Amino acid sequence: MPIKINNSRCIQCIGCASVCPTGALELQGLSMVFHPEKCISCGICARACPANAITFTPKNEKEKKKRTDSNEKK
Ligand code: SF4
Ligand code: SF4
Repeated sequence: MPIKINNSRCIQCIGCASVCPTGALELQGLSMVFHPEKCISCGICARACPANAITFTPKNEKEKKKRTDSNEKK
Protein backbone atom coordinates (compact mmCIF):
# COMPACT_ATOMS: atom_id res chain seq x y z
CA MET A 1 0.00 0.00 0.00
CA PRO A 2 1.47 3.36 -0.95
CA ILE A 3 -0.09 5.18 2.00
CA LYS A 4 -0.79 4.46 5.62
CA ILE A 5 -3.30 6.40 7.66
CA ASN A 6 -2.67 6.78 11.35
CA ASN A 7 -6.22 7.16 12.58
CA SER A 8 -5.08 8.08 16.08
CA ARG A 9 -3.56 11.30 14.66
CA CYS A 10 -6.37 11.99 12.19
CA ILE A 11 -8.68 14.90 13.04
CA GLN A 12 -11.25 13.95 10.36
CA CYS A 13 -10.80 17.19 8.46
CA ILE A 14 -11.40 15.32 5.16
CA GLY A 15 -8.60 17.36 3.57
CA CYS A 16 -7.05 14.21 2.13
CA ALA A 17 -10.31 12.98 0.66
CA SER A 18 -11.02 16.35 -0.92
CA VAL A 19 -7.65 16.51 -2.70
CA CYS A 20 -7.45 12.85 -3.74
CA PRO A 21 -7.95 12.79 -7.52
CA THR A 22 -9.38 9.27 -7.56
CA GLY A 23 -11.65 9.16 -4.51
CA ALA A 24 -9.43 6.59 -2.78
CA LEU A 25 -10.05 8.12 0.64
CA GLU A 26 -13.38 8.24 2.36
CA LEU A 27 -14.57 9.17 5.84
CA GLN A 28 -16.55 6.34 7.38
CA GLY A 29 -17.77 7.12 10.87
CA LEU A 30 -14.73 8.48 12.70
CA SER A 31 -12.11 6.83 10.51
CA MET A 32 -10.62 7.57 7.13
CA VAL A 33 -10.89 4.49 4.97
CA PHE A 34 -8.37 3.91 2.20
CA HIS A 35 -9.31 2.10 -1.01
CA PRO A 36 -5.95 0.90 -2.38
CA GLU A 37 -7.47 -0.31 -5.66
CA LYS A 38 -8.31 3.32 -6.53
CA CYS A 39 -5.00 4.84 -5.45
CA ILE A 40 -2.55 6.02 -8.10
CA SER A 41 0.26 6.71 -5.57
CA CYS A 42 0.42 10.44 -6.22
CA GLY A 43 1.16 11.39 -2.60
CA ILE A 44 -1.05 14.48 -2.64
CA CYS A 45 -3.04 13.33 0.38
CA ALA A 46 0.06 13.01 2.57
CA ARG A 47 1.16 16.55 1.67
CA ALA A 48 -2.35 17.90 2.33
CA CYS A 49 -2.77 16.33 5.76
CA PRO A 50 -2.43 18.97 8.51
CA ALA A 51 -1.98 16.33 11.22
CA ASN A 52 0.77 14.30 9.56
CA ALA A 53 -1.51 11.31 9.81
CA ILE A 54 -0.64 9.95 6.37
CA THR A 55 2.62 8.24 5.55
CA PHE A 56 3.30 8.05 1.84
CA THR A 57 5.71 5.49 0.41
CA PRO A 58 6.00 5.46 -3.37
CA LYS A 59 5.22 2.02 -4.72
CA ASN A 60 8.50 1.52 -6.54
CA GLU A 61 10.79 3.02 -3.89
CA LYS A 62 12.27 -0.33 -2.88
CA GLU A 63 12.82 -1.41 -6.48
CA LYS A 64 14.38 1.96 -7.31
CA LYS A 65 16.78 1.58 -4.41
CA LYS A 66 17.71 -1.94 -5.50
CA ARG A 67 18.42 -0.74 -9.03
CA THR A 68 20.52 2.17 -7.78
CA ASP A 69 22.49 -0.11 -5.47
CA SER A 70 23.23 -2.67 -8.16
CA ASN A 71 24.29 0.07 -10.58
CA GLU A 72 26.82 1.48 -8.17
CA LYS A 73 30.38 0.52 -8.96
CA LYS A 74 32.89 0.08 -6.19
S1 SF4 B 1 -1.73 8.85 -2.90
FE1 SF4 B 1 -3.01 10.11 -4.31
S2 SF4 B 1 -4.49 8.66 -5.21
FE2 SF4 B 1 -3.59 7.65 -3.41
S3 SF4 B 1 -5.03 8.13 -1.75
FE3 SF4 B 1 -3.43 9.73 -1.72
S4 SF4 B 1 -4.24 11.42 -2.97
FE4 SF4 B 1 -5.45 9.56 -3.42
S1 SF4 C 1 -6.09 15.13 5.88
FE1 SF4 C 1 -5.15 14.00 7.58
S2 SF4 C 1 -6.25 14.72 9.41
FE2 SF4 C 1 -7.47 15.30 7.61
S3 SF4 C 1 -8.92 13.57 7.35
FE3 SF4 C 1 -7.12 13.14 6.06
S4 SF4 C 1 -5.79 11.86 7.36
FE4 SF4 C 1 -7.25 12.85 8.70
